[in-house]
Amino acid sequence: MTIDVEQYRGHLENLVANLGEGEWTLWTVDSVECWAESVNLPQRGVFIPAMAVRASDGRRILVIRRLLTDDIRNAVLGGFLIRGHGDQNALEGPLPFLEHLVLHEVAHHVLDTKDEDACDAWALKKMTARSDNP
Ligand SMILES: [Zn+2]
Repeated sequence: MTIDVEQYRGHLENLVANLGEGEWTLWTVDSVECWAESVNLPQRGVFIPAMAVRASDGRRILVIRRLLTDDIRNAVLGGFLIRGHGDQNALEGPLPFLEHLVLHEVAHHVLDTKDEDACDAWALKKMTARSDNP
């Protein structure tokens, strides 16, 4: 099933607004790599699901591919599993999948690291904290 990120916009905006990590703007685009190229941030990959950037005016922006197909989701979940993080079934629903995707990208900026593992761990911690504290 393809996820249309716009259907979850309210939830995701709420999620990042309540992180205490500053203000984030959510953009959905047809292709993250085409968008990146258009602003001179060429990416090596294709079908990139999301990336976080800082605009020249200081705004922090989450750029997300609007339509996330099964193939893209499986690639993301596969990477997650290979990096050794527990139960990928927990991330199979659209909402937890998107939450983790968004939190992972935010983590790259908050932690200021390219370490995928550290970002996964940070994202999972935030997700657990939220479910403990409805
Ligand atoms: Zn990453």
